[in-house]
Amino acid sequence: MMECASTPQAGRSCKETFNLYYYPANADIATDHFPKWMENPWIKVDTVAADTLVRRNGRMGGASMRSNVKTLRLGPLKESGFYLAFLDQGACMAVLAVRVYYRLCPAVVASLASFPETVPAGLVVSAEGSCVEGAEGSLGRRPIMYCREDGEWAKPAAGDCICVAGREEKDGRTKCSACPPGSFKPKVGELPCQICPPSSLSTSAGATVCNCKVGYYRATGDPVTAPCTKPPSSPRSIVSSLNGSTVDLDWSEPLDSGGRSDLYYEVRCSEYAAGGGWIPCTRLSFVQRPEKLKERKLSVSGLRPQVIYNFRVLALNGVSETNGAAAMGEELNVTIDRDLPNAVTGIQQLAASTSSLSLKWKTPGPPPSPSRGTVLDYEVKYYEKDQEDPRIMYLKTPANETTLSELRARTMYAVQVRARSEAGYGAFSGESVFQTLELDPEKAQPQVELIAGTVGVGTLLILIVVVIAVLCVRKHGSNKEPEYSDKPGQYLIGHNTKLYIDPFTYEDPNEAVREFAKEIDASYVKIEEVIGAGEFGEVCRGRLKVPGKKENYVAIKTLKGGYTERQRREFLSEASIMGQFHHPNIIHLEGVITNNSPVMIITEYMENGALDSFLRQNDGQFTPIQLVGMLRGIASGMRYLAEMNYVHRDLAARNILVNSNLVCKVSDFGLSRFLQEGSTDPTYTSCLGGKIPIRWTAPEAIAFRKFTSSSDVWGYGIVMWEVMSFGERPYWDMSNQDVINAIEQDYRLPAPPDCPSALHQLMLDCWQRDRASRPRFTEIVSALDKLIRNPASLKITTREQPGSSQPLLDQRTPHYSSFSSVGEWLHAIKMGRYEEGFRTAGFTTFSRVRQITTEYVMVAGRGLVVPWRGRL
Ligand code: AMP
Repeated sequence: MMECASTPQAGRSCKETFNLYYYPANADIATDHFPKWMENPWIKVDTVAADTLVRRNGRMGGASMRSNVKTLRLGPLKESGFYLAFLDQGACMAVLAVRVYYRLCPAVVASLASFPETVPAGLVVSAEGSCVEGAEGSLGRRPIMYCREDGEWAKPAAGDCICVAGREEKDGRTKCSACPPGSFKPKVGELPCQICPPSSLSTSAGATVCNCKVGYYRATGDPVTAPCTKPPSSPRSIVSSLNGSTVDLDWSEPLDSGGRSDLYYEVRCSEYAAGGGWIPCTRLSFVQRPEKLKERKLSVSGLRPQVIYNFRVLALNGVSETNGAAAMGEELNVTIDRDLPNAVTGIQQLAASTSSLSLKWKTPGPPPSPSRGTVLDYEVKYYEKDQEDPRIMYLKTPANETTLSELRARTMYAVQVRARSEAGYGAFSGESVFQTLELDPEKAQPQVELIAGTVGVGTLLILIVVVIAVLCVRKHGSNKEPEYSDKPGQYLIGHNTKLYIDPFTYEDPNEAVREFAKEIDASYVKIEEVIGAGEFGEVCRGRLKVPGKKENYVAIKTLKGGYTERQRREFLSEASIMGQFHHPNIIHLEGVITNNSPVMIITEYMENGALDSFLRQNDGQFTPIQLVGMLRGIASGMRYLAEMNYVHRDLAARNILVNSNLVCKVSDFGLSRFLQEGSTDPTYTSCLGGKIPIRWTAPEAIAFRKFTSSSDVWGYGIVMWEVMSFGERPYWDMSNQDVINAIEQDYRLPAPPDCPSALHQLMLDCWQRDRASRPRFTEIVSALDKLIRNPASLKITTREQPGSSQPLLDQRTPHYSSFSSVGEWLHAIKMGRYEEGFRTAGFTTFSRVRQITTEYVMVAGRGLVVPWRGRL
């Protein structure tokens, strides 16, 4: 396009634009004269101006030589073609090229729908798509996408297609692929295919459900997403116990629950008909309906003698019905034989020695049919009571008495007896427990005291000489197994009772360790978990497997790294002490590991841990008989230690360990916590010459360090109190000084709630100021045995004896009812200084004071009213 200004000769008619027209037509109909050269019929598209013009002044080239490009839009067009006309009205120009084209949106697959090639007639055009194979329009709507005028699809399209069941979206929502074998998709939707649930499978692609493998089922209500399950295996070990005409059936869970939690049982009963053949049971009554039983037991009554009953117990679950095969169950035949002897009762001890027990029992009552029911003989079953896996022994005897021999000394034996008639064995009696005598128990301890007490210093000197002599012998001694040898350095007192040797009397304490503790190969020990913190390092549970022996759980005390030689000696001294003791109520030393790091002490494992925390965790859960049983064990262990001349000094429930059979064992033979600079445990208070657990310690031991077996008896009394109060802290939150003052003023701990009076009396005996008046452990064991043999004596508690309700301080105090005011009473019992405290707390009348008997009372020495659990 020429610039007009540079072509003045063109004059005023010169133009720098031209007009574009078009004429739509369905066929090539135009001639020179048709259509007429004028707007309408021609339709004007636009007047087109050039962006750059060419100048004639010779300055051609560069930008001015650029051709102009214009894009013009025609339409809308309905006809199949059109003519174009360029109207030049005075411009000097040249049309170099004309391109005619249109735009369209290409066919596309998106959002699980395919959209056709679409020409955008107008600014945007909506195109309807169709769902791809395996997809369907949701809510019956077809998906829509918009094609823009520039040939681009407007996104997003309204996606209304979703994959059907058995197919899942793939490749950016462009297709619905069939679920591969091993997976499934249960319904239409956007969720992907899922792996088949356990015990089900899909073998071909596109599964909407996974079918159960052979032998597995789904119950009617189970969703298709649930795993396939199977009926349970049979119940196991059905046992029956006959009691008159009633049978109690009891069985164990099936080994395989079939993978379901809706297990139940059904008991089917048939009886053997007189004419032969089995018929459904008649005239029996069931405590519960024998179908859909959740519990693993059932009582059936009304059994008739001589009839054979067959009980079949089936284990069933939700798929038992779906499964065609009938459940087999376990079965058991039961007959009441009227001629079986009755259960034996009344087993009594006639005599006992260190290795035998003579017993007698009642002859069972006359059976209904004397011809067949006469007792032919008895079977006696007996075993060691405190053993975890005892060896059960049997003995037969024609008479209603026998002697069990070759028993171990001072060991409890459980005994059961049953009678046999021609018809067979009757039921076993309940378990009765008897104990063999100790090896000369009476002589052991008194002898020591006799030596020390009457013969005095001279004899002690002789003893020391003997110790030295024997120590010398030991140096040349052989390396015998500690359990079986009479260790050099120990004397025999009475029969076989050895004296304890303080490992620190050895020139080299390591020698004591070698003497009393077995060295265990570190590879035999497997540590499993930390169970506590000891004085010197962690306490762990683990397993000990010595080749050729059964694997056992053990407790492993470790000595943490960075120890001094002295700490190592103190740590191992516990093993040297423990290794000298062999008693069922003393923690048993397995051995030590000293030539490997870390140094370890290995003992038997006590599943229930320390007694104090065990009781607190099981508050109120044990009967007095059980508690007395525990106390008896502790007393028996202490009796043994006293016989060995060992003074424990730290007898407390925290130092008693409990195993899974509730057997209590004395532990903690370490000395370090008594040493002045040792632990920082507040239980142990620094006193002149060492640390002392004040609340557990006898006054003479606190005052002038007089530690004896009699001071251990005081501690035992405190343990009794801890046990009977299920782990309560002795003297609650009183300060140590208040405890010392209260004891000095003859205050003693009151009976714990529901504590049998006899036990509290025994505690008070242990807390006698005069140590010679305290009972010895032998006497304590006998007293407890007496209570165990006569459980009725444990039923009497302080609470049931209002007349003898314990006054606060001691039994000499007059009863409050003889005073006219609380203040007067307090003065009379030398507690006048608490009058103010009582008044402040509102305890101004006796009726108020009586109400608070178990709640509050004053603490000696301070004039405070504090929570108190005792009785006034
Ligand atoms: P000790 O250093 O002996 O007081 O042990 C610390 C803690 O470890 C105890 O209070 C128990 O909880 C636990 N413990 C020690 N020995 C044993 C064992 N033989 N069996 C189970 N637990 C134990």
